[in-house]
Amino acid sequence: MWTAVDRQDKRHEEPSTVEVSATSRYYIATKSLVKPRRRTMEQHFLVVTYAAQGHVNPALHLCRRLARVAGARVTFSTSISGHRRMFASSADQEVDDGVVCYVPFSDGYDGGFDRETGNRDEFRLRAKSVGTRTLAAIVRSLQQRGRPVTCIIHTLLLPWVADVAHDHGIPSVLYWIQPATVFAMYYHYFHGYDGLIASHGHDPQFEVTLPGLPPFKIRDLPSFLSITRPDDPYAAVTDMFRETFDVLDREEANSTARVLVNTFEELEGDALAAVAGQVKLIPIGPMLPSPLQLEGTKEAKGMASAGADLFKPDEKHYMEWLDSKPEKSVVYVSFGSLAVMKKRQAEEILRWLKENRKPYLWVVRKENRGELGDKLEEEGEGGMVVEWCSQVRVLSHPAVGCFVTHCGWNSTVESMVCGVPMVAVPQWSDQVTNAMLAELRGLGVRGELDGEGVLQGAELCRCLETVMGEGERGKEVRKRVAMWKERAREAVGEGGSSDRNLRAFVGEIASLK
Ligand code: UDP
Repeated sequence: MWTAVDRQDKRHEEPSTVEVSATSRYYIATKSLVKPRRRTMEQHFLVVTYAAQGHVNPALHLCRRLARVAGARVTFSTSISGHRRMFASSADQEVDDGVVCYVPFSDGYDGGFDRETGNRDEFRLRAKSVGTRTLAAIVRSLQQRGRPVTCIIHTLLLPWVADVAHDHGIPSVLYWIQPATVFAMYYHYFHGYDGLIASHGHDPQFEVTLPGLPPFKIRDLPSFLSITRPDDPYAAVTDMFRETFDVLDREEANSTARVLVNTFEELEGDALAAVAGQVKLIPIGPMLPSPLQLEGTKEAKGMASAGADLFKPDEKHYMEWLDSKPEKSVVYVSFGSLAVMKKRQAEEILRWLKENRKPYLWVVRKENRGELGDKLEEEGEGGMVVEWCSQVRVLSHPAVGCFVTHCGWNSTVESMVCGVPMVAVPQWSDQVTNAMLAELRGLGVRGELDGEGVLQGAELCRCLETVMGEGERGKEVRKRVAMWKERAREAVGEGGSSDRNLRAFVGEIASLK
Protein backbone atom coordinates (compact mmCIF):
# COMPACT_ATOMS: atom_id res chain seq x y z
CA MET A 1 0.00 0.00 0.00
CA TRP A 2 1.26 3.47 -0.86
CA THR A 3 1.08 6.44 1.43
CA ALA A 4 -1.00 9.28 0.06
CA VAL A 5 1.38 12.18 -0.36
CA ASP A 6 0.85 15.81 -0.98
CA ARG A 7 3.44 16.18 -3.71
CA GLN A 8 4.65 19.71 -3.94
CA ASP A 9 6.42 19.34 -7.22
CA LYS A 10 9.57 21.46 -7.10
CA ARG A 11 11.42 19.79 -9.90
CA HIS A 12 10.50 22.37 -12.51
CA GLU A 13 11.35 25.47 -10.54
CA GLU A 14 14.52 25.93 -12.54
CA PRO A 15 14.42 25.83 -16.34
CA SER A 16 15.84 22.68 -17.85
CA THR A 17 18.58 23.15 -20.38
CA VAL A 18 18.61 19.56 -21.58
CA GLU A 19 19.05 19.20 -25.30
CA VAL A 20 16.90 16.53 -26.91
CA SER A 21 17.54 15.34 -30.44
CA ALA A 22 14.92 16.03 -33.12
CA THR A 23 14.36 12.28 -33.53
CA SER A 24 13.53 11.70 -29.89
CA ARG A 25 11.22 14.70 -29.78
CA TYR A 26 9.32 13.30 -32.75
CA TYR A 27 9.13 9.89 -31.11
CA ILE A 28 7.77 11.27 -27.88
CA ALA A 29 5.26 13.46 -29.70
CA THR A 30 4.00 10.48 -31.71
CA LYS A 31 3.68 8.34 -28.59
CA SER A 32 1.73 11.01 -26.81
CA LEU A 33 -0.88 11.00 -29.61
CA VAL A 34 -1.48 7.33 -28.99
CA LYS A 35 -1.56 7.51 -25.20
CA PRO A 36 -1.69 10.95 -23.62
CA ARG A 37 1.06 11.48 -21.05
CA ARG A 38 0.85 13.70 -18.05
CA ARG A 39 3.91 15.64 -19.16
CA THR A 40 5.74 15.62 -22.43
CA MET A 41 9.26 14.26 -22.29
CA GLU A 42 9.08 13.10 -18.71
CA GLN A 43 12.25 11.39 -17.69
CA HIS A 44 12.01 9.21 -14.64
CA PHE A 45 15.22 8.03 -13.01
CA LEU A 46 15.06 5.21 -10.49
CA VAL A 47 18.20 5.39 -8.35
CA VAL A 48 18.82 2.17 -6.41
CA THR A 49 21.39 2.06 -3.65
CA TYR A 50 22.88 -0.25 -1.04
CA ALA A 51 21.85 0.74 2.49
CA ALA A 52 25.14 2.15 3.77
CA GLN A 53 25.69 5.83 4.56
CA GLY A 54 28.59 6.10 2.11
CA HIS A 55 26.29 4.87 -0.68
CA VAL A 56 23.09 6.68 0.33
CA ASN A 57 24.74 10.13 0.45
CA PRO A 58 26.19 10.29 -3.09
CA ALA A 59 23.05 8.58 -4.46
CA LEU A 60 20.82 11.22 -2.90
CA HIS A 61 23.03 14.05 -4.14
CA LEU A 62 22.74 12.58 -7.62
CA CYS A 63 18.92 12.36 -7.29
CA ARG A 64 18.74 16.03 -6.48
CA ARG A 65 21.09 17.00 -9.30
CA LEU A 66 19.01 14.98 -11.78
CA ALA A 67 15.81 16.63 -10.61
CA ARG A 68 17.41 20.04 -10.96
CA VAL A 69 19.33 19.57 -14.20
CA ALA A 70 16.74 17.50 -16.07
CA GLY A 71 13.53 18.53 -14.35
CA ALA A 72 13.19 14.77 -14.13
CA ARG A 73 11.05 12.69 -11.84
CA VAL A 74 13.39 10.86 -9.47
CA THR A 75 12.67 7.86 -7.29
CA PHE A 76 15.22 6.69 -4.73
CA SER A 77 15.14 3.09 -3.59
CA THR A 78 17.16 1.40 -0.90
CA SER A 79 16.45 -1.75 1.09
CA ILE A 80 13.69 -1.68 3.71
CA SER A 81 16.27 -1.87 6.53
CA GLY A 82 17.93 1.34 5.24
CA HIS A 83 14.60 3.08 4.59
CA ARG A 84 13.55 2.37 8.19
CA ARG A 85 16.70 4.05 9.44
CA MET A 86 16.19 7.07 7.18
CA PHE A 87 12.48 7.50 7.92
CA ALA A 88 11.73 5.97 11.30
CA SER A 89 8.04 6.88 11.18
CA SER A 90 7.27 5.81 7.61
CA ALA A 91 6.38 2.18 8.42
CA ASP A 92 8.12 0.94 5.26
CA GLN A 93 5.94 3.11 3.05
CA GLU A 94 6.67 5.55 0.29
CA VAL A 95 7.90 9.00 1.34
CA ASP A 96 7.93 12.05 -0.89
CA ASP A 97 9.89 15.20 -0.05
CA GLY A 98 8.65 17.16 -3.05
CA VAL A 99 11.83 16.58 -5.07
CA VAL A 100 12.62 12.90 -4.53
CA CYS A 101 10.23 10.03 -3.90
CA TYR A 102 11.56 7.21 -1.66
CA VAL A 103 10.27 3.70 -2.33
CA PRO A 104 12.00 0.84 -0.48
CA PHE A 105 12.58 -2.70 -1.78
CA SER A 106 13.05 -5.83 0.30
CA ASP A 107 16.38 -7.62 0.02
CA GLY A 108 15.28 -10.41 2.36
CA TYR A 109 16.95 -8.73 5.36
CA ASP A 110 14.30 -6.23 6.44
CA GLY A 111 15.64 -6.23 9.98
CA GLY A 112 19.15 -5.49 8.66
CA PHE A 113 22.17 -7.69 7.93
CA ASP A 114 24.44 -8.38 10.90
CA ARG A 115 27.90 -7.48 9.62
CA GLU A 116 29.60 -9.17 12.58
CA THR A 117 27.94 -12.57 12.43
CA GLY A 118 26.12 -12.71 9.07
CA ASN A 119 27.30 -14.89 6.20
CA ARG A 120 28.16 -12.57 3.28
CA ASP A 121 27.83 -15.26 0.65
CA GLU A 122 24.31 -16.05 1.83
CA PHE A 123 23.56 -12.34 1.84
CA ARG A 124 24.81 -11.97 -1.72
CA LEU A 125 22.57 -14.76 -3.03
CA ARG A 126 19.47 -13.96 -1.01
CA ALA A 127 19.64 -10.20 -1.62
CA LYS A 128 19.91 -10.94 -5.31
CA SER A 129 16.93 -13.30 -5.49
CA VAL A 130 14.59 -11.34 -3.18
CA GLY A 131 15.79 -7.94 -4.45
CA THR A 132 15.27 -8.90 -8.09
CA ARG A 133 11.67 -9.82 -7.36
CA THR A 134 10.75 -6.86 -5.17
CA LEU A 135 12.49 -4.23 -7.29
CA ALA A 136 10.78 -5.61 -10.41
CA ALA A 137 7.45 -5.21 -8.58
CA ILE A 138 8.30 -1.56 -7.87
CA VAL A 139 9.14 -0.93 -11.53
CA ARG A 140 5.81 -2.48 -12.60
CA SER A 141 3.87 -0.58 -9.96
CA LEU A 142 5.40 2.74 -11.03
CA GLN A 143 4.46 1.92 -14.62
CA GLN A 144 0.85 1.12 -13.61
CA ARG A 145 0.63 4.35 -11.66
CA GLY A 146 1.55 6.38 -14.74
CA ARG A 147 5.19 6.97 -13.76
CA PRO A 148 7.13 4.67 -16.09
CA VAL A 149 10.82 4.50 -15.25
CA THR A 150 13.03 5.60 -18.16
CA CYS A 151 16.45 4.82 -16.63
CA ILE A 152 17.65 2.78 -13.65
CA ILE A 153 20.85 3.92 -11.97
CA HIS A 154 22.43 1.71 -9.30
CA THR A 155 25.38 2.04 -6.94
CA LEU A 156 27.86 -0.67 -5.90
CA LEU A 157 27.18 -4.18 -4.57
CA LEU A 158 23.88 -4.45 -6.49
CA PRO A 159 24.90 -6.00 -9.84
CA TRP A 160 21.49 -7.72 -10.17
CA VAL A 161 19.75 -4.36 -10.60
CA ALA A 162 21.05 -4.24 -14.18
CA ASP A 163 19.16 -7.48 -14.91
CA VAL A 164 15.92 -6.01 -13.55
CA ALA A 165 16.42 -3.04 -15.89
CA HIS A 166 17.16 -5.26 -18.89
CA ASP A 167 14.13 -7.48 -18.18
CA HIS A 168 11.93 -4.38 -18.42
CA GLY A 169 13.66 -2.90 -21.46
CA ILE A 170 14.98 0.05 -19.44
CA PRO A 171 18.53 1.41 -19.82
CA SER A 172 20.67 0.69 -16.76
CA VAL A 173 23.62 2.73 -15.60
CA LEU A 174 26.22 1.95 -12.94
CA TYR A 175 26.99 4.81 -10.57
CA TRP A 176 30.56 4.28 -9.34
CA ILE A 177 30.76 6.09 -6.00
CA GLN A 178 34.49 5.58 -5.57
CA PRO A 179 37.30 7.29 -7.53
CA ALA A 180 38.06 6.45 -11.16
CA THR A 181 41.50 5.19 -10.02
CA VAL A 182 39.74 2.48 -8.00
CA PHE A 183 37.50 1.65 -10.96
CA ALA A 184 40.56 1.27 -13.21
CA MET A 185 42.24 -1.04 -10.67
CA TYR A 186 39.17 -3.28 -10.44
CA TYR A 187 38.78 -3.19 -14.22
CA HIS A 188 42.33 -4.34 -14.91
CA TYR A 189 42.20 -6.91 -12.11
CA PHE A 190 39.17 -8.57 -13.75
CA HIS A 191 40.70 -8.24 -17.22
CA GLY A 192 43.92 -10.18 -17.02
CA TYR A 193 45.85 -8.86 -14.00
CA ASP A 194 44.27 -11.00 -11.24
CA GLY A 195 47.04 -13.64 -11.46
CA LEU A 196 49.85 -11.09 -11.09
CA ILE A 197 48.15 -9.44 -8.13
CA ALA A 198 47.20 -12.71 -6.42
CA SER A 199 50.75 -14.01 -6.67
CA HIS A 200 52.04 -10.93 -4.82
CA GLY A 201 49.04 -10.43 -2.52
CA HIS A 202 51.17 -11.26 0.52
CA ASP A 203 53.71 -8.53 -0.16
CA PRO A 204 52.24 -5.08 0.60
CA GLN A 205 55.35 -3.33 -0.73
CA PHE A 206 55.35 -5.08 -4.15
CA GLU A 207 55.07 -2.52 -6.93
CA VAL A 208 52.38 -3.02 -9.58
CA THR A 209 52.03 -1.21 -12.89
CA LEU A 210 48.61 -1.35 -14.56
CA PRO A 211 47.87 0.17 -17.99
CA GLY A 212 47.44 3.93 -17.82
CA LEU A 213 47.99 4.22 -14.05
CA PRO A 214 51.11 5.39 -12.23
CA PRO A 215 52.92 2.52 -10.43
CA PHE A 216 51.54 1.74 -6.97
CA LYS A 217 52.10 -0.78 -4.20
CA ILE A 218 49.93 -3.79 -3.40
CA ARG A 219 49.02 -2.07 -0.11
CA ASP A 220 47.37 0.71 -2.18
CA LEU A 221 45.02 -1.68 -3.98
CA PRO A 222 41.39 -1.84 -2.77
CA SER A 223 41.68 -4.44 -0.01
CA PHE A 224 39.10 -6.78 -1.58
CA LEU A 225 41.55 -7.38 -4.43
CA SER A 226 44.42 -8.55 -2.26
CA ILE A 227 42.37 -11.25 -0.53
CA THR A 228 44.38 -14.45 -0.83
CA ARG A 229 42.23 -17.01 1.04
CA PRO A 230 39.03 -18.33 -0.59
CA ASP A 231 37.47 -18.68 2.89
CA ASP A 232 38.08 -15.00 3.68
CA PRO A 233 34.76 -13.57 4.98
CA TYR A 234 35.02 -10.74 2.45
CA ALA A 235 35.58 -12.97 -0.62
CA ALA A 236 31.82 -12.57 -1.30
CA VAL A 237 32.36 -8.82 -1.72
CA THR A 238 35.05 -9.45 -4.36
CA ASP A 239 32.49 -11.70 -6.08
CA MET A 240 29.94 -8.88 -6.12
CA PHE A 241 32.49 -6.63 -7.81
CA ARG A 242 33.29 -9.43 -10.27
CA GLU A 243 29.58 -9.69 -11.15
CA THR A 244 29.45 -5.93 -11.67
CA PHE A 245 32.29 -6.11 -14.17
CA ASP A 246 30.70 -9.14 -15.88
CA VAL A 247 27.54 -7.07 -16.39
CA LEU A 248 29.62 -4.20 -17.79
CA ASP A 249 31.35 -6.59 -20.20
CA ARG A 250 27.97 -7.82 -21.45
CA GLU A 251 26.73 -4.25 -21.85
CA GLU A 252 29.95 -3.23 -23.53
CA ALA A 253 29.44 -5.96 -26.12
CA ASN A 254 26.14 -4.21 -26.99
CA SER A 255 27.76 -0.76 -26.73
CA THR A 256 25.37 0.20 -23.91
CA ALA A 257 27.77 0.29 -20.94
CA ARG A 258 27.70 3.65 -19.15
CA VAL A 259 29.27 4.42 -15.79
CA LEU A 260 28.68 7.64 -13.89
CA VAL A 261 31.68 8.32 -11.62
CA ASN A 262 31.82 10.50 -8.53
CA THR A 263 34.98 12.30 -9.59
CA PHE A 264 35.99 15.07 -11.99
CA GLU A 265 38.21 15.22 -15.03
CA GLU A 266 40.72 17.67 -13.56
CA LEU A 267 41.35 15.41 -10.52
CA GLU A 268 41.61 12.02 -12.22
CA GLY A 269 42.23 12.57 -15.93
CA ASP A 270 44.84 9.76 -15.98
CA ALA A 271 42.59 7.11 -14.44
CA LEU A 272 39.64 8.10 -16.62
CA ALA A 273 41.88 7.74 -19.68
CA ALA A 274 43.22 4.39 -18.41
CA VAL A 275 39.97 2.60 -19.34
CA ALA A 276 38.60 5.07 -21.88
CA GLY A 277 38.98 2.60 -24.76
CA GLN A 278 37.06 -0.08 -22.86
CA VAL A 279 34.25 1.54 -20.85
CA LYS A 280 32.47 4.86 -21.10
CA LEU A 281 33.17 6.57 -17.78
CA ILE A 282 31.24 9.78 -17.20
CA PRO A 283 32.77 11.89 -14.41
CA ILE A 284 30.00 13.94 -12.78
CA GLY A 285 31.41 14.71 -9.34
CA PRO A 286 32.17 15.64 -6.81
CA MET A 287 28.58 15.02 -5.79
CA LEU A 288 28.08 17.69 -3.20
CA PRO A 289 25.59 17.96 -0.41
CA SER A 290 23.02 20.55 -1.27
CA PRO A 291 23.82 23.03 1.49
CA LEU A 292 27.24 23.49 -0.09
CA GLN A 293 26.14 23.60 -3.65
CA LEU A 294 22.80 25.27 -3.32
CA GLU A 295 23.21 27.47 -0.29
CA GLY A 296 20.08 29.44 0.36
CA THR A 297 17.91 27.83 -2.33
CA LYS A 298 14.62 26.04 -1.79
CA GLU A 299 16.29 22.73 -2.59
CA ALA A 300 18.74 23.16 0.24
CA LYS A 301 15.78 23.43 2.61
CA GLY A 302 14.28 20.29 1.05
CA MET A 303 17.55 18.49 1.66
CA ALA A 304 17.60 19.52 5.27
CA SER A 305 14.19 17.94 5.80
CA ALA A 306 15.02 14.78 3.83
CA GLY A 307 16.09 11.83 5.94
CA ALA A 308 19.55 11.19 4.56
CA ASP A 309 21.14 10.09 7.84
CA LEU A 310 21.13 6.44 8.88
CA PHE A 311 22.38 7.50 12.33
CA LYS A 312 20.74 9.61 14.98
CA PRO A 313 22.46 13.02 15.15
CA ASP A 314 24.10 13.78 18.48
CA GLU A 315 22.22 16.41 20.43
CA LYS A 316 25.36 18.04 21.79
CA HIS A 317 25.82 21.62 20.60
CA TYR A 318 28.96 20.92 18.65
CA MET A 319 28.43 23.73 16.12
CA GLU A 320 28.21 26.28 18.95
CA TRP A 321 31.29 24.70 20.50
CA LEU A 322 33.10 25.15 17.16
CA ASP A 323 31.96 28.80 17.12
CA SER A 324 33.97 29.34 20.30
CA LYS A 325 37.26 28.12 18.75
CA PRO A 326 39.85 30.13 16.79
CA GLU A 327 40.05 29.80 13.01
CA LYS A 328 41.64 26.57 11.69
CA SER A 329 42.49 25.38 15.20
CA VAL A 330 40.24 22.31 15.61
CA VAL A 331 41.16 18.74 14.66
CA TYR A 332 38.09 16.87 13.41
CA VAL A 333 38.40 13.06 13.77
CA SER A 334 36.01 10.59 12.13
CA PHE A 335 36.38 7.11 10.67
CA GLY A 336 33.03 7.12 8.87
CA SER A 337 29.93 5.03 9.22
CA LEU A 338 31.26 1.47 9.08
CA ALA A 339 34.78 1.20 10.47
CA VAL A 340 35.00 -0.38 13.88
CA MET A 341 37.97 1.18 15.59
CA LYS A 342 40.45 -1.17 17.25
CA LYS A 343 40.69 -0.69 21.01
CA ARG A 344 44.38 0.18 20.76
CA GLN A 345 43.70 2.70 17.99
CA ALA A 346 41.06 4.43 20.08
CA GLU A 347 43.40 4.50 23.08
CA GLU A 348 46.25 5.97 21.02
CA ILE A 349 44.00 8.75 19.74
CA LEU A 350 42.57 9.40 23.19
CA ARG A 351 45.99 9.52 24.82
CA TRP A 352 47.30 11.89 22.20
CA LEU A 353 44.23 14.11 22.34
CA LYS A 354 44.60 14.44 26.10
CA GLU A 355 48.31 15.22 25.96
CA ASN A 356 48.04 17.69 23.13
CA ARG A 357 46.60 21.16 23.44
CA LYS A 358 44.77 21.24 20.09
CA PRO A 359 40.98 21.32 20.41
CA TYR A 360 39.30 18.32 18.84
CA LEU A 361 35.88 17.14 17.72
CA TRP A 362 35.80 13.36 17.56
CA VAL A 363 33.01 11.14 16.19
CA VAL A 364 32.82 7.83 18.04
CA ARG A 365 29.73 5.94 16.96
CA LYS A 366 27.64 4.16 19.58
CA GLU A 367 28.88 0.70 18.56
CA ASN A 368 32.50 1.84 19.02
CA ARG A 369 31.96 3.22 22.49
CA GLY A 370 32.25 -0.09 24.31
CA GLU A 371 35.94 -0.17 23.44
CA LEU A 372 36.58 3.06 25.30
CA GLY A 373 34.28 2.60 28.27
CA ASP A 374 33.95 5.60 30.53
CA LYS A 375 37.22 7.14 29.39
CA LEU A 376 35.40 9.22 26.79
CA GLU A 377 33.35 10.97 29.43
CA GLU A 378 36.52 12.48 30.88
CA GLU A 379 36.72 14.88 27.96
CA GLY A 380 37.16 18.47 29.04
CA GLU A 381 37.01 21.92 27.54
CA GLY A 382 39.66 21.00 25.01
CA GLY A 383 37.58 18.51 23.13
CA MET A 384 34.17 17.16 22.31
CA VAL A 385 33.18 13.58 21.47
CA VAL A 386 29.92 13.02 19.58
CA GLU A 387 28.14 9.90 18.32
CA TRP A 388 27.25 11.37 14.92
CA CYS A 389 27.41 14.86 13.47
CA SER A 390 26.49 16.73 10.34
CA GLN A 391 29.93 16.20 8.82
CA VAL A 392 29.67 18.66 5.96
CA ARG A 393 28.56 21.43 8.29
CA VAL A 394 31.50 20.63 10.56
CA LEU A 395 33.99 20.60 7.70
CA SER A 396 32.57 23.91 6.42
CA HIS A 397 33.14 25.58 9.78
CA PRO A 398 36.09 28.04 9.75
CA ALA A 399 37.38 26.67 13.09
CA VAL A 400 38.24 23.28 11.57
CA GLY A 401 41.89 23.09 10.54
CA CYS A 402 42.40 19.39 9.83
CA PHE A 403 40.44 16.18 9.24
CA VAL A 404 41.85 12.92 10.61
CA THR A 405 39.93 10.57 8.34
CA HIS A 406 39.66 6.93 7.31
CA CYS A 407 39.46 8.26 3.73
CA GLY A 408 36.07 6.93 2.72
CA TRP A 409 35.58 8.55 -0.69
CA ASN A 410 32.73 10.78 0.52
CA SER A 411 34.77 12.04 3.45
CA THR A 412 37.76 12.62 1.16
CA VAL A 413 35.70 14.58 -1.34
CA GLU A 414 33.87 16.56 1.36
CA SER A 415 37.18 17.52 2.95
CA MET A 416 38.53 18.67 -0.42
CA VAL A 417 35.44 20.70 -1.27
CA CYS A 418 35.51 22.37 2.16
CA GLY A 419 39.24 23.10 1.83
CA VAL A 420 40.32 21.11 4.90
CA PRO A 421 43.71 19.31 4.80
CA MET A 422 43.63 15.62 5.72
CA VAL A 423 45.58 13.17 7.81
CA ALA A 424 44.73 9.88 6.11
CA VAL A 425 44.33 6.77 8.25
CA PRO A 426 42.85 4.27 5.79
CA GLN A 427 41.41 1.02 7.10
CA TRP A 428 40.24 -1.16 4.19
CA SER A 429 38.35 -1.33 0.86
CA ASP A 430 38.97 1.68 -1.41
CA GLN A 431 40.17 3.80 1.52
CA VAL A 432 43.79 2.78 1.01
CA THR A 433 43.68 3.85 -2.65
CA ASN A 434 41.84 7.04 -1.76
CA ALA A 435 44.56 7.86 0.79
CA MET A 436 47.24 7.31 -1.85
CA LEU A 437 45.37 9.57 -4.26
CA ALA A 438 44.80 12.26 -1.63
CA GLU A 439 48.51 12.33 -0.81
CA LEU A 440 49.51 12.33 -4.49
CA ARG A 441 47.27 15.34 -5.16
CA GLY A 442 48.67 17.15 -2.13
CA LEU A 443 45.42 17.10 -0.15
CA GLY A 444 47.13 15.92 3.02
CA VAL A 445 49.49 13.33 4.41
CA ARG A 446 49.08 9.64 5.04
CA GLY A 447 49.82 8.35 8.52
CA GLU A 448 52.12 5.34 8.69
CA LEU A 449 50.43 2.51 10.57
CA ASP A 450 52.31 0.09 12.79
CA GLY A 451 52.41 -3.71 12.35
CA GLU A 452 48.90 -4.03 13.83
CA GLY A 453 47.45 -1.40 11.52
CA VAL A 454 47.32 1.24 14.26
CA LEU A 455 48.29 4.89 13.90
CA GLN A 456 50.32 5.56 17.01
CA GLY A 457 49.99 8.81 18.91
CA ALA A 458 53.50 10.01 18.01
CA GLU A 459 52.80 9.47 14.30
CA LEU A 460 49.46 11.28 14.58
CA CYS A 461 51.35 14.18 16.18
CA ARG A 462 53.88 14.24 13.36
CA CYS A 463 51.14 14.28 10.72
CA LEU A 464 49.17 17.04 12.42
CA GLU A 465 52.28 19.13 12.80
CA THR A 466 52.98 18.63 9.10
CA VAL A 467 49.55 19.72 7.81
CA MET A 468 48.70 22.36 10.43
CA GLY A 469 52.17 23.69 11.25
CA GLU A 470 54.19 26.48 9.67
CA GLY A 471 56.72 24.22 7.93
CA GLU A 472 57.12 24.25 4.13
CA ARG A 473 55.16 21.00 3.64
CA GLY A 474 52.21 22.35 5.62
CA LYS A 475 52.13 25.56 3.61
CA GLU A 476 52.30 23.57 0.37
CA VAL A 477 49.47 21.22 1.46
CA ARG A 478 47.23 24.15 2.40
CA LYS A 479 47.97 25.84 -0.95
CA ARG A 480 47.08 22.67 -2.87
CA VAL A 481 43.94 22.08 -0.82
CA ALA A 482 42.75 25.61 -1.61
CA MET A 483 43.46 25.01 -5.30
CA TRP A 484 41.52 21.70 -5.41
CA LYS A 485 38.64 23.25 -3.49
CA GLU A 486 38.24 25.80 -6.28
CA ARG A 487 38.65 23.25 -9.06
CA ALA A 488 36.12 20.87 -7.51
CA ARG A 489 33.54 23.62 -7.15
CA GLU A 490 34.18 24.80 -10.71
CA ALA A 491 33.71 21.26 -12.06
CA VAL A 492 30.18 20.98 -10.65
CA GLY A 493 29.31 24.64 -11.10
CA GLU A 494 27.28 25.86 -14.08
CA GLY A 495 29.24 25.05 -17.25
CA GLY A 496 31.98 23.12 -15.40
CA SER A 497 33.26 19.78 -16.73
CA SER A 498 31.08 17.59 -14.48
CA ASP A 499 28.03 19.77 -14.98
CA ARG A 500 28.40 19.48 -18.76
CA ASN A 501 28.92 15.72 -18.51
CA LEU A 502 25.79 15.24 -16.43
CA ARG A 503 23.68 17.35 -18.79
CA ALA A 504 25.01 15.44 -21.81
CA PHE A 505 24.24 12.13 -20.06
CA VAL A 506 20.68 13.24 -19.32
CA GLY A 507 20.24 14.32 -22.94
CA GLU A 508 21.58 10.98 -24.17
CA ILE A 509 19.19 9.01 -21.95
CA ALA A 510 16.30 11.22 -23.11
CA SER A 511 17.17 10.43 -26.71
CA LEU A 512 16.87 6.68 -26.00
CA LYS A 513 13.17 6.89 -25.12
N1 UDP B 1 29.09 11.27 8.09
C1 UDP B 1 28.27 12.13 8.77
N2 UDP B 1 28.46 12.28 10.12
C2 UDP B 1 29.40 11.62 10.82
C3 UDP B 1 30.26 10.74 10.10
C4 UDP B 1 30.08 10.58 8.75
O1 UDP B 1 27.40 12.79 8.19
O2 UDP B 1 29.47 11.81 12.05
C5 UDP B 1 28.88 11.09 6.62
C6 UDP B 1 29.99 11.72 5.83
O3 UDP B 1 29.70 13.08 5.60
C7 UDP B 1 30.02 10.89 4.56
C8 UDP B 1 29.47 9.54 5.02
O4 UDP B 1 28.89 9.72 6.30
O5 UDP B 1 29.19 11.45 3.57
C9 UDP B 1 30.54 8.47 5.13
O6 UDP B 1 30.93 8.06 3.88
P1 UDP B 1 32.43 7.71 3.55
O7 UDP B 1 32.47 7.29 2.11
O8 UDP B 1 33.32 8.82 3.91
O9 UDP B 1 32.79 6.50 4.50
P2 UDP B 1 32.06 5.13 4.92
O10 UDP B 1 31.17 5.47 6.03
O11 UDP B 1 31.33 4.62 3.70
O12 UDP B 1 33.19 4.26 5.34
